[in-house]
Amino acid sequence: MYQQENHSAKTIFDANSAWKECLGIIKQNVTQMTYNTWFLPIKPVEFLNNVLRVQLPSQFFWEWVDEHYNTLINKTIRDVLGPNVKLTYLIAEDVEAQEPDYTDHSKKTNGNKISIQPKPSFENFLNSRYTFENFIKGEGNQLASAAAGAIADNPGGTSFNPFFVYGGVGLGKTHLIQAIGNKIARNFPEKKVIYLSADSFTVEFVESIQSNRVNEFSSFYRSMDVLIIDDIQFLIGKEKTQDLFFHIFNTLHQSKKQIILSSDKPPKELKGLDERLISRFQWGLTADIQPPELEMRIAILKRKADDYGMSAPQDIIEYIASNITSNIRELEGCLIKLLANASLNSKEITLELAKKTVREIATDRKVNITIEGITKVVCDYLGVAENKIRDKTRKKEIVLARQIAMYFSKELTKSSLKTIGLHFGGRDHSTVIHACSAIEEAKLKDKSLIEILSNIKNQIEINSP
Ligand code: ADP
Ligand code: MG
Repeated sequence: MYQQENHSAKTIFDANSAWKECLGIIKQNVTQMTYNTWFLPIKPVEFLNNVLRVQLPSQFFWEWVDEHYNTLINKTIRDVLGPNVKLTYLIAEDVEAQEPDYTDHSKKTNGNKISIQPKPSFENFLNSRYTFENFIKGEGNQLASAAAGAIADNPGGTSFNPFFVYGGVGLGKTHLIQAIGNKIARNFPEKKVIYLSADSFTVEFVESIQSNRVNEFSSFYRSMDVLIIDDIQFLIGKEKTQDLFFHIFNTLHQSKKQIILSSDKPPKELKGLDERLISRFQWGLTADIQPPELEMRIAILKRKADDYGMSAPQDIIEYIASNITSNIRELEGCLIKLLANASLNSKEITLELAKKTVREIATDRKVNITIEGITKVVCDYLGVAENKIRDKTRKKEIVLARQIAMYFSKELTKSSLKTIGLHFGGRDHSTVIHACSAIEEAKLKDKSLIEILSNIKNQIEINSP
């Protein structure tokens, strides 16, 4: 039993030996694989005032460890270091992102780069996990990332204002625009930076109406130096919000404040958005992000595997990169899942296990997407009332909407043809088959349909958790 003394006294352990003691116990309670995967990458940082601070490679990593080994870790720490000792953690990415500016000297130890950033007077909603340092550049994001870098160095001072980034889901839009915000917040502490999604903006606006504080709401956003709004397509169909945003945009733009926006489509395809906004969105720079090429997917996987302290052989990296092609979020998810699979079942990371994990991901993808969700997106997109789609009507636009909804229900869910048919007004499975082949055929004849289908698919994926 070790007696912990309070802060004036010297602690018995330094961080390294304290954590080493704990590891000794942990090692006896988990498999070798788990130990290597989840515990070895944890680095002790400091042990002060009954708080043991450790550093973990990433937020994902922390969440996994916390979910699965919280009890073991806490018990071990109490047993080894004393009943009042607590564990706190730092994420390596956050540490990199922060300035080595020690504002609170009591927290400074051994030259570790820990700093407590002075908090702005309002919450800027930036996630410090998103930085330029961990954003991998490639062909698909070349222009967007170069422009983002220039803006971060000179906010409001480039011709890239507004900066409008667009692209499919999971390709790094949020990461990139937040990286700009984080860098500006770090290098220009006097500038007011705020990040939020268009959805939150709308919700806040509605709340401000209800509480009679629209002026306050509006002047708050007009007072920003850098306004970052994610997923601006959510403003579609919200006219009042668009109107207010239009005025905020003008104020900021006139006073050379930086505006950064992201969207799933380029401005001119944002149907249902005020023309005045669409034209303003094109005043600055519009840059797209394309899905990563194979080489980039490999680079991303290698880098992320490294971050997780995981040694994945080249053939496994290549297998994943060749099979998960849609987006970066899934690539990342696949690695985490692979680590988890290996660790939970005390297995080595093998090609076999990688194959199994990739299959599971394909299944997960289908679980989250529902026929209802698909129907809603298709109807919204095509401007058809949802209840009409189940009717017996042969009206052309409704038939098309129904066929598209059936087509995606088959492609994106695990539902049987019979279930799909039932959802669309009790039609039988042969109607579903017919719908799918009708769409396949129409795709061959009609180029614009391909575009429509791809937009709809994108939207379905965005709307699914
Ligand atoms: P989007 O906003 O386009 O849907 P995100 O920015 O949320 O995509 O990216 C999804 C995930 O992939 C995030 O965890 C992000 O950190 C990661 N990611 C995306 N692009 C890159 C990149 N170029 N380099 C490293 N990580 C990336
Ligand atoms: Mg996003």
